[in-house]
Amino acid sequence: MKTTGNELRGIVASPGIATGRAFVYVKPRIPHADNRTEDPAREIRRLKAAVAESVGDLQRLTRRMQERGEDAFVHILRAQQTIAEDESVFDEVATLVREDWLPAEAAVGRVFEQYTEMFNQLRDRDYNKARSADVMDVYKRIVGKLLGLTDTELIGLDSGTIVVAEDLLPSDTAMMDFSRVAALVTERGGVTGHVAIIANTYGIPAAVGVAGVTTHASSGDRMVVDASCGEEALVLVNPDAESERHVAVRRRRLEHHARDLQQYRGMDPITRDGHRIILSANVGSTAELEPARVQGAGSVGLYRTEFLFLKAPVLPDEDAQYEAYRAAAEAFPGSFVIVRTLDVGGDKRIPGISMEQEDNPFLGNRALRLCLARPDLFRTQLRAILRAAVHGDVRIMFPMVGGVPELEEALDVLARTGAELQAEGIECRVDLPVGAMIEVPAAVWVAGELARRVSFLSIGTNDLTQYLTATDRINSAVWEYHRIFDPSLFRAMEMVVAGAHANGAWVGVCGELGGNPLAIPLLIGLGVDELSMSPRAIAEATWLLRTGTYREMQALAEEVLKQDDHRAIRSLLEQFLEKHYTGSGEGRDPQRPCESDDA
Ligand code: PEP
Ligand code: MG
Repeated sequence: MKTTGNELRGIVASPGIATGRAFVYVKPRIPHADNRTEDPAREIRRLKAAVAESVGDLQRLTRRMQERGEDAFVHILRAQQTIAEDESVFDEVATLVREDWLPAEAAVGRVFEQYTEMFNQLRDRDYNKARSADVMDVYKRIVGKLLGLTDTELIGLDSGTIVVAEDLLPSDTAMMDFSRVAALVTERGGVTGHVAIIANTYGIPAAVGVAGVTTHASSGDRMVVDASCGEEALVLVNPDAESERHVAVRRRRLEHHARDLQQYRGMDPITRDGHRIILSANVGSTAELEPARVQGAGSVGLYRTEFLFLKAPVLPDEDAQYEAYRAAAEAFPGSFVIVRTLDVGGDKRIPGISMEQEDNPFLGNRALRLCLARPDLFRTQLRAILRAAVHGDVRIMFPMVGGVPELEEALDVLARTGAELQAEGIECRVDLPVGAMIEVPAAVWVAGELARRVSFLSIGTNDLTQYLTATDRINSAVWEYHRIFDPSLFRAMEMVVAGAHANGAWVGVCGELGGNPLAIPLLIGLGVDELSMSPRAIAEATWLLRTGTYREMQALAEEVLKQDDHRAIRSLLEQFLEKHYTGSGEGRDPQRPCESDDA
């Protein structure tokens, strides 16, 4: 988006306002090896210093992770320290510098690439893929030192930091301590990509698609991120006093609104005319369970299990997964926990899972497709879920179901896995409810047939929007075509709800739209039975529900379904909130924070 002066604009990926100091995160790039050095001895001295600094960094980070009790990361960092300290690797690099007159960074590149390649070729591909990722991390760390780059690390952030980056992938954010992060700002990324999901999970404001921010801001700059109103985010670098004052007013209003909403936490999610909805949380780890309960979630509508895989030094085995799912079941006694089977691929690459390079990974071997191609991974996870189901109302959900054949295949693997556990005499539950995600347009037209085979459908609006509108969900360059209120989406939902209800299944929405206050009345009006969202959105959703009537929401849905343009839909949704949720009507208290800038 466009930039003026110290003011940049982007897209709101997670709402809120933050001020803080920038940390501009730099990812070292692999340098080309075509130039030669005239002074090999000097290169070897540089190399020694870079290795020593890298080892020092790794030791410091290990201590920090130990303090945080992050044993998995301690394990990874120690393994990386061993690689960095390996004398035979150092000798190989030094030999290349001396004999081929290569600059240190190019020599490091050549040797480390050979090692990563070697690990990738070995048997037990997943384990060695993880080792190869460790080698790559060490390589980047040493090259970063040689190139004199600072700020290549997201681990040791100061409190109140605004992280600025070209892009943030799951592998970048895995070790971040989000309690120290005030906001995230990226040049790339989309409203439903990884940045949006983690920022919403941790309640951190985020702006994506902020063109030029990594060159415009420097580490240490004062920054303001205003992602409080509508779709456009404002990012100020070293703002003047007047702008700061203006933002502070808006921030106070937002905090006031958030405080007002707290009274709705844990209240019955029911409309004024008695229509009940299930409000669930989206989570990705054991640590997120308790905060989700505190925020008033009645259940877990989406457990994104891939995050368990991302944080672990080796792929979590059946027992480790069983413990995680069991903890979720026990955190929500008397209500359901929907465990989604592994959704990797697309932008979610996991160091420990070997995947082919694909030209179009979002259209490739991801999610259920990958699981069906990797029965070892799939069966291990299903076994863990079926065992954990003994401890509560655990349910299974398959992501990226494109049609009846893969759903039937997945159900067949599930049935065989259950039979296998029973034959082994292992305690498990095999009759647990199963659901299918609706994220692939093809699934919309067979929603009824899918629903006949499962207990519930859950609409993944992030991917469904991406595939309906043919816009990559993490590419801000096509953001204006990635229309989250596209008419096709709501017409698709109408079909899914009808197909599910006619076949005795219930329907949820678990994409980011499910927690979007503008969309919530519409989704309810369309007949959705459950909304699953980041926990911090639950209080506002409860307020929206309890303040409105189902009748009004159904009338809104009818109007929306007549529209042919996402702009008209957005304006209908805005008008609806204005009409029914501001002013002094009974139960219609908290003023929305966006109404005007002066207060
Ligand atoms: C979705 O696509 O809407 C969804 C919930 O899945 P994810 O965001 O994890 O792809
Ligand atoms: Mg999805």
